[in-house]
Amino acid sequence: MSSDKSNKNVIQMATQDADGNNSDPQQKRTAAPLEGAVCEHCFGTGMEVVPGKGARPCHCRIQDSRRKLFDAARIPRRYSECSLDNFKTEANSSQNIAFRYACRLVLDYPAVDRGLLFIGPVGVGKTHLSVAILKGLIEKGVPCLFCEFGSLLKQIQDSYNPISQTSEMRVLAPVYQAEVLVLDELGATVPTDWVRDTMYQIINKRYNDRKLTIFTTNFLDAPRVEHGDDYDLQEESVSRRRMKLTDKRVREIDPPTLEERIGTRMRSRLYEMCNKVEIQGDDYRKRLDKHRFESKRI
Ligand SMILES: [Zn+2]
Repeated sequence: MSSDKSNKNVIQMATQDADGNNSDPQQKRTAAPLEGAVCEHCFGTGMEVVPGKGARPCHCRIQDSRRKLFDAARIPRRYSECSLDNFKTEANSSQNIAFRYACRLVLDYPAVDRGLLFIGPVGVGKTHLSVAILKGLIEKGVPCLFCEFGSLLKQIQDSYNPISQTSEMRVLAPVYQAEVLVLDELGATVPTDWVRDTMYQIINKRYNDRKLTIFTTNFLDAPRVEHGDDYDLQEESVSRRRMKLTDKRVREIDPPTLEERIGTRMRSRLYEMCNKVEIQGDDYRKRLDKHRFESKRI
């Protein structure tokens, strides 16, 4: 009995090794065929035959489907280069912890039952990491969607305009249906009743459908009541509030909390859906230190 399968008249799937390497020089071809042209490797069949190895899905098909997923994800151009590979982080920093959360999620998906809530000031990489997660998932073939919360609300409002060609449902359907959704800049819009109701409706729908959502927000989280999960945060909250009453100037360094911005009901829903990941930046640290210094003087 010969074990040389190449002698058999069987087409066998050629596979890559564990590192994704393949000694086959044909593997190095990455260019997808031009629009409308027939792929010269698979002749449009989607399967390419590798001499001595068998057949495998042609690279043109894989690239094509990834490109479609990427376009459908509506990642804004300014973030299109963001990936886990180019995220800058220092060892033992809060950014590094956030980075590891992001990698873990991509690695474990679909065996993931909670999304992430990235909290931190402007410029610490919350959106970068969120986009990087989407891109990592798209590489795994997962349909994703990126949404900046303010522009989503604006689109919904515009859909009420009778001249507008879009309906509210047309705007919301992709947001409801996306397998994985990023909602960027939660709480950035002035919280009117309508904004809160709309926000709740969207988030609650995804919660009920058990769909994974990743949020970013610039508003720090400090719970008003006892059900917080972090003693320090509670203590900080109390001092913040005390300062608010005693020193008008302090309001400048005491912006609204996430809860004040999105409401108690929404905040607790977020915690049911997500792991909280706080990222601190230089500005954030300076502000917090100043804040602690001030609260000791009261
Ligand atoms: Zn092909």
